[in-house]
Order: sequence, then C-alpha cells, then structure tokens
Amino acid sequence: MSSRILIIEDETTIAQLERDYFELNGFQVDLCHSGSEGLPLALNGDYSLIIVDLQLPGMDGFELCNQIRQVKEVPILIVSAKKEEIDKIRAFNLGADDYITKPFSPSELVARAKAHLTRYERLTARQTQPSNAEIHIRGLVIDKVSRRVYVRNQEVIFTTREFNLLEFLATHPNRVFNKNELFERIWGMDSSGDIATVTVHIRKLREKIEVDPSNPQYIETVWGAGYRFTV
Ligand code: CA
Repeated sequence: MSSRILIIEDETTIAQLERDYFELNGFQVDLCHSGSEGLPLALNGDYSLIIVDLQLPGMDGFELCNQIRQVKEVPILIVSAKKEEIDKIRAFNLGADDYITKPFSPSELVARAKAHLTRYERLTARQTQPSNAEIHIRGLVIDKVSRRVYVRNQEVIFTTREFNLLEFLATHPNRVFNKNELFERIWGMDSSGDIATVTVHIRKLREKIEVDPSNPQYIETVWGAGYRFTV
C-alpha cells in the first residue's frame, strides 16, 4: 500500500496530532497550513490520500476539493469544525469522499483513511488492467462495446437509458451525483422528461443488479446529496 498522505490544516496542534497518528500507523505525512500552499502540492505530489480542513487561509477547503477533483481521483477526507448538513452536502457534491467533524477521534480518522485507501487501491488496480472495454465490479460485468450487462453470470437486459445511467455511474465510481446532474448527463437538458425519472431508473437498476434492492451494495443513496456507485 503506497502511503504518503497530505494534510492541509491551518491549526498547528490539530495538524500535528493528525500527523502523529498517521505516522504511528506507518504513513508518511506532509503537512501544510494554507489552501494556496496545499493546492500545488495536492496536484503535483504523489499522494494516496488528502485530508482537508474547510476553513483555511488562502483558499478554503471547498475550493481545494473542487480543484483537486477536476484533476485527480485521490480520496479526499474533510476534517472540519463545520457541523451543518449543508456544508457536508456541499463537500460531497464537490467530490469529497468522507467528512469528519471536529473534535474527532484520531483513531477513527486513521481507520476511515485506511478504508478509503483500500477501496481506492482496488479501483486503481482494476483500471490498470489491459481491457477498459469491460467494467468488472464484484459480480457485475458491463461490456461497453456490446452494451451487454451480466449480473452474477446471467445476462440481464437493460433499456438504453438504464444502460447509459449504469455505465455513467460505474465509470465514475465512488463519486456522488445528484438527480439534476444525472438527469442532465443521461437525458440531456432539452429532454421533455423530469428529474423524477432519475429516481425511477435508479430503482430499476437496483432491481436488476442488486441481490437485495432495499439494501443496495452497488448504487448507494447518499442522503440529501444523491447517488454513488460504490466500489
Ligand atoms: Ca481551520
């Protein structure tokens, strides 16, 4: 497991506490104390995970998250004193993978970071496999060329919209998309449908791919934020 992480946190005592815990757990840690200093490091450094505070001098954590996510799929964990749901939703919509409020348990932070790292490494290992015409995720195979889907070794028939939605979500694993974004991407702005159709299609996808559609393992609802395809 590659294990260099970047911590962007302006409160020195918190930054050092985080660094100490990660170092105790075998990670290499780089610290920086402002958004403007953190962004070039995050974009150019070879980090396997980035911890971001929200209230930072230079550039705030939301903007950092947004800018990093334009370029990189690296897991981003927000650690913030902001406890409002609206801040959490905004962070997830900008591509954050997790959100931990201060005061926090350093052991829990490290445990969550490890879980995200493991997930991310499974994902990048898969992406470096030679064929990207097929997506293999647990018992699900999506053949992008023949537009066929196999669920636990059985071919399942999808409508065009269902296939497009499934393919879109599966090619952006672990990213949260709200209904509006999905509607715009799959149906297009000029479509006569409405965004309720997204909910209907998500339900159909779950019925087709999930073992238990009421307890989805692939297409997860992120409460208040949207959906994500979990890898
Ligand atoms: Ca701060």
